[in-house]
Amino acid sequence: MNAKEKILVVDDDPNLRKTLADILRVKGYETVIAGTGTEAIAAAGKGGVSLALIDLMLPDMSGLEVMARIKAISPLTEVIILTGHASMDTAIKATWQGAFSYLLKPYNMDELLRVIRHGVERQQAKEEILRLASFPRLHPCPVIELDPAGEVSYLNPAAERVFPELGAMGQSHPLLYSAMELIEGLRQGKEQGETVHETEIGEATYELHIYYVQDVDLIRIYVMDITQRKRNEEEIYLLATTDSLTGIVNRREFTAILMREMAQTKRHSMPMALIMYDIDYFKRVNDTFGHDVGDHVLQTVTGLVKENIRVTDIVARWGGEEFMVLMPQADIPSARNTAEKLRLAIAGHHFDKVDKLTISFGVAAFEPQDDLNSLLKRVDDALYQAKKLGRNRVEILTGELSGTCLLYSR
Ligand code: GH3
Ligand code: MG
Ligand code: MG
Repeated sequence: MNAKEKILVVDDDPNLRKTLADILRVKGYETVIAGTGTEAIAAAGKGGVSLALIDLMLPDMSGLEVMARIKAISPLTEVIILTGHASMDTAIKATWQGAFSYLLKPYNMDELLRVIRHGVERQQAKEEILRLASFPRLHPCPVIELDPAGEVSYLNPAAERVFPELGAMGQSHPLLYSAMELIEGLRQGKEQGETVHETEIGEATYELHIYYVQDVDLIRIYVMDITQRKRNEEEIYLLATTDSLTGIVNRREFTAILMREMAQTKRHSMPMALIMYDIDYFKRVNDTFGHDVGDHVLQTVTGLVKENIRVTDIVARWGGEEFMVLMPQADIPSARNTAEKLRLAIAGHHFDKVDKLTISFGVAAFEPQDDLNSLLKRVDDALYQAKKLGRNRVEILTGELSGTCLLYSR
């Protein structure tokens, strides 16, 4: 017996309703008691009543009216009318108006319990039918049902809209085709509960959540367009790894890439170079023309840099107006050439409103003794040298011997 089934006992005789409620509790039902129609309606209004036992003769209103009002609040609640001989006609009328059954007082307790059990079962069946019928219909995702022969037996409106061919194609539709073995496994009990299957149709990826609904022997499939999920994941990834102003790799992502590249470089004994650059007197740009113009300059510089590096090079925004270029398989001379090309491209460019701008560059290459910090420090020191020596120039540092040594200046 399911203890959750709630029975409402409505009788103005306190002894009768108490005895009945006690017996029903012993039988495993939850009970609520009411001595008047008003109390009964209030109790039904709280919800969860599977079945109401209603005495026809109540002090404030007739049992028929109580039934009608309970059904109005809770249409699935079943009602059993309890009546004396004098009111037999009314009791019969009650069954026409939706009562599940009626019993004559004094009733036989076994018979009453049997009728109650049937009433509760019917209420549960109605609830299940409603759930089965309405839930998939209203579901925003496509819901597909397959009958025991594997034929499509139901498509909710979302499924009809998204997969217009599904009804006609049935199992041979690309959405279902690759899942049929799984579906059979579920039906035969080889697979349990929910099974998830991913399938691709064209550009879209769908996730099929497949259930076997044993009571009605059907397979129900909820289809989630995860294309969207993938898109969201990509968006989150982009937000986490790129700089929103310039659209290039951010510092965190660049550090991760740099570490990977350093490991590769070490393993294969290949060269790898790093360029760090910083706009000269950029503060003046902001101060003179405003922050928006400054932002635009950062975007323009980024565009110019991208035009002048190899596709395999990676440019990143390291800080406010400090940037890095990672050049895999490049040695110092080739990195120096690239930095020089960038310097000239920027110095020769006419920037909107600002007109002329220059940039200073530091260059360093990976050396066997390097770790991340020593390499980053060297390229930063090289940039610092370029600033110190007058800006608009390229400086190179190597880590040979002890400390760093200046190799090249323009
Ligand atoms: P130096 O030649 O020594 O590099 O001089 P500088 O003026 O470029 O250097 P400083 O570090 O003093 O100033 C950098 C300025 O960059 C200060 C800061 O307001 C500005 N800045 C940093 N990030 C942004 C940004 O996203 N947009 C704008 N418009 N300005 C930024
Ligand atoms: Mg600067
Ligand atoms: Mg700076």
